[in-house]
Amino acid sequence: MDTSSVDVAVVGTLNMDVIVQVTRMPEVGETVLGQSVSERPGGKGANQALAAAGLASTMLVGVVGRDDAGDRLLAVQDAGGVDTVYVSRVDEASGQAIIEVDDAGDNRIVVLVGANANLSTAHVEHALDAALPRVVLTQLESPSEVTAAVAAWCSRRSRRLLLNPSPVAELPGAVLAAADPLVVNEHEARFYASDDTDDPVAVAHALLEVATSAVITLGADGVVVAADGAVARIDVARVRAVDTTGAGDVFAGVLAAHLAHDSGLVEAAEQAAAAATAHVARRPPAVE
Ligand code: ADP
Repeated sequence: MDTSSVDVAVVGTLNMDVIVQVTRMPEVGETVLGQSVSERPGGKGANQALAAAGLASTMLVGVVGRDDAGDRLLAVQDAGGVDTVYVSRVDEASGQAIIEVDDAGDNRIVVLVGANANLSTAHVEHALDAALPRVVLTQLESPSEVTAAVAAWCSRRSRRLLLNPSPVAELPGAVLAAADPLVVNEHEARFYASDDTDDPVAVAHALLEVATSAVITLGADGVVVAADGAVARIDVARVRAVDTTGAGDVFAGVLAAHLAHDSGLVEAAEQAAAAATAHVARRPPAVE
């Protein structure tokens, strides 16, 4: 891909998810027998890049290992049309997430950061300088100095930053302030709004005190968009949710693609919600 035409740069992680199905979770010190195991490419960066790539030219900036998992993670991105020129490789195992899912659908996840820990600010700045993407989307699975460098780069180059602060963590005020929008679920929204009211509209107004704009996803209850002092609510279609894994990632990637194409924030969020809702209604295939 000609990197001068990049719409969306996603800076983030690639992980191979190992999903173990159990009837019930083991107690501490207990052994239970698993029902099945499957692997699925994941990592928030990788998931969000794939979601954006269907709609806009997209590059992923990250690190995988020189291992079999790294080969497969890159192959999935390539097949999805993501530019992987700036996914570098190191002599360390690719990132992994060990996910136990029980019959009630509850999960427990252990993430092994692996190769992702090697993502450096120098590499990220080099990639962004080379591609000059219209929008940059990042999460909090990468080293914290990388997140700060991405936010600073966007401010310096007047590029739009979409920040999906997941997994939730304290952030410098300048990083939050650069987010346009901050893309959060209900739990993350409350954390950054320092507001424990149940009213998402009030939380959205509070987020405008810390970020340039904000989009709060509320699962089946829709989406709240806050920008320029105004708050709008978007409803989502009623669907039978089969698997909500990665719904937030589909939302963030599709939102980035539409914003790169100059959609308004509410319109982009409507498209993102439609895509995420369609995603939860179908079960993704496991990769053998
Ligand atoms: P996260 O996975 O980050 O917690 P949400 O659960 O808020 O994010 O889901 C993100 C988006 O996925 C929602 O805004 C919505 O569009 C869609 N979605 C998630 N769960 C459902 C559901 N049960 N029914 C319909 N849409 C859903």
